[in-house]
Amino acid sequence: MIALAGIPASSGAAIGPARVMKRISFDIPDAHSADPEAEKARFRSAVSSAAVEISNLKAAAEKKLGRAEAEIFAAHALMLEDPALEDAVADGITVGLTAESAVAGAIRNLAAQFDSMEDDYFKQRAADVKDIGRRILKKLEGEKSASPENDSACILVTDELLPSDTISLDTARTAGIVTERGGAASHASILARALGIPCVVGVEGLLERTSDGVEIAIDGGKGEVLIHPSENAKKRFESVAAAAREKRAAAMKRKNEPAVTVDGCVIPVFGNAGSVADVAAAIANGAEGIGLFRTEFLFLGRKTMPTEDEQTAEYSAAAAAAGGKPVTIRLLDIGGDKPAEYLAIPSEANPFLGFRAIRLLLERRDVLKTQIRAILRAAASGDLLILVPMISDISELKTVREIRDECLSELEREGKECKKTKLGAMIEVPAAALCADRLAAAADFFSIGTNDLTQYCMAADRGNAAVAHLFNPAHPAVLSLIEHTVRGARAAHIKVSVCGEAAADETAAREFVSLGVDYLSVAPAAVPLAKETVRTCRVSP
Ligand code: PEP
Ligand code: MG
Repeated sequence: MIALAGIPASSGAAIGPARVMKRISFDIPDAHSADPEAEKARFRSAVSSAAVEISNLKAAAEKKLGRAEAEIFAAHALMLEDPALEDAVADGITVGLTAESAVAGAIRNLAAQFDSMEDDYFKQRAADVKDIGRRILKKLEGEKSASPENDSACILVTDELLPSDTISLDTARTAGIVTERGGAASHASILARALGIPCVVGVEGLLERTSDGVEIAIDGGKGEVLIHPSENAKKRFESVAAAAREKRAAAMKRKNEPAVTVDGCVIPVFGNAGSVADVAAAIANGAEGIGLFRTEFLFLGRKTMPTEDEQTAEYSAAAAAAGGKPVTIRLLDIGGDKPAEYLAIPSEANPFLGFRAIRLLLERRDVLKTQIRAILRAAASGDLLILVPMISDISELKTVREIRDECLSELEREGKECKKTKLGAMIEVPAAALCADRLAAAADFFSIGTNDLTQYCMAADRGNAAVAHLFNPAHPAVLSLIEHTVRGARAAHIKVSVCGEAAADETAAREFVSLGVDYLSVAPAAVPLAKETVRTCRVSP
């Protein structure tokens, strides 16, 4: 048995075989085979199954993203049949390489050719060639490895879960997640909490000690990871899992009851969502609205920006899924760790201190206006609010307010159905918390993002395991910024919520409620337990 320690990211325990998600690289050392005919047959079979996969992806993309977006898969299907690729691979196999080495070499060369072209369109094709290469290599690996493909639930093991991976995560087969990198507020952690999957992140040495199929036990509440757990350890982890299930079952029974503190204050618990499915899940778990609808997922993992109509449809669907309850749509928070190819965000030395969220939107007015127009249109048929991320100065909020009013006038002139929405500021930069009294004059509500507020207050990267000990949303310095924010909101008679991940943490949530926040917003799976936490709180001293 090997015991490893990581950062607790999503509570609960899980035991199961590892499913290792590797990043496929084309820089693999050459491997040789004595049977070129067998290698050619393996290559042909990998290409045919990749073709089936691409055609299924095209059909799924047509449904989810529309015909134009699905065209990229039609182009991939054509490239897969390109004789230049087939010839290059055949040449490699003929000189004695394995199918994997021949494919890696052919893709390296083809991608380099595209990359060296002047024209941007052709440069972009290098990424497509690599995408196809990865798909073929995955098929070749799949043939050989004893990957537990058919097991119902595995522990996903990876270096880091990227935002784009979240689109393809098979949640039904994921009992737990362990990552080598990342922190408690990184995307893997947020996703795991949203789904209620036990998760440990920042586990050093994980990948070198794990392979597909190896039994792993994790305790997401303590950050423990056991490889080849002993029978005794398994019993201990199973009892943690059972206790978590019991606590959850008790909370589920009361999920639709209001959350009232011991001294009689009602603290509504809202849900955080990244998709329409999340909205439905949060509401089904008893959420009284959506306190944070992250719109990034609509913009990531695609080649072009979603149009105004597409966005209107998505926000309308979110409003419909909330069944009349309020949905707080956050303007695009892109940049930092969440890049989008088509926005051509320049690379920066300090992306978290750079060109992200509202800073980027104010430079890209086309993106900002398209999104605001879509929200105002969707608001005609639902209760929507607009939330502005990464506000550092009141001028940013005032400009967004002007643009909202301008969009409203435009839509009215165009005879489009629309409705004016409230406009709130995310408090996630210490400057905003410290100037909350002034900011409150331009805001209809505040929402405190403790993930970023903690990162910026403590100067501790939210995704860096090495400084995770400093990333404490209940640190007196962070609490003092929250107290300041609440005071500013109170004086202006506006409401303030906490929508960062810490709102689902029992200890931190108790502190926030006692400081006077009006409501909490947590991951869909965490709503029933957050209500239970509120029921143990006291607001008056
Ligand atoms: C936050 O910063 O706390 C927050 C809720 O926003 P995000 O995690 O999307 O940056
Ligand atoms: Mg944030």
